[in-house]
Amino acid sequence: ASSEVAREFGLKLSLYPVKGYSLTAALTNPDKAPQSTVIDDEFKVVATRLNDRLRVTGFVELADFNRDIPARRLDTLKRATAMRFPGAADLETAEAWTGFRPMTPDGPPAIGKGPSDNLFINTAHGTFGWTLSAGSAQIVGQLVDGEPAAVDLGAFRPDRFG
Ligand SMILES: Cc1cc2nc3c(=O)[nH]c(=O)nc-3n(C[C@H](O)[C@H](O)[C@H](O)COP(=O)(O)OP(=O)(O)OC[C@H]3O[C@@H](n4cnc5c(N)ncnc54)[C@H](O)[C@@H]3O)c2cc1C
Repeated sequence: ASSEVAREFGLKLSLYPVKGYSLTAALTNPDKAPQSTVIDDEFKVVATRLNDRLRVTGFVELADFNRDIPARRLDTLKRATAMRFPGAADLETAEAWTGFRPMTPDGPPAIGKGPSDNLFINTAHGTFGWTLSAGSAQIVGQLVDGEPAAVDLGAFRPDRFG
């Protein structure tokens, strides 16, 4: 949705919503659940412990803003979880979710001053929106304050999409 807002200011942002799914399940046996995040390269599924719950995420789909959650996607997440962490969580009552990773064609997010003096861009963090949120917010704060950014923003220029 950032690209629509930016367009109103004459700025072209190339973003695509790359779809993924997650299941969040209550733990039935915490000792059988991972203590930290585990990336399963075979199923391309990531399992993360959230206190007394287990969250498993996966899939990379190009489906525009389609919020459907097909049962076969959830079946894959359940199968991967049951195989790696048998008996750890109640997969049948797990909460299903779908969301979008805002991706740029070249990878880095778009961070920097926009075409108007009071417009600042901080979007398109793709698969790492949470991971990068604090650092990105600090940089945007520096720009708003008129200070030099703590890192070189060349790779993140919002106007690099032409
Ligand atoms: C399956 C999956 C797993 C993920 N796992 C991780 C992970 O482990 N670690 C990680 O760091 N990241 C992860 N991500 C990525 C992370 O979720 C995103 O990068 C992050 O949510 C992007 O945050 P955002 O605030 O930029 O955008 P969003 O979360 O999309 O928020 C944008 C908000 O703006 C609102 N909005 C839209 N238009 C307007 C408007 N015109 N006016 C006002 N508001 C508007 C929307 O309603 C929405 O609430 C994952 C994503 C997916 C899909």
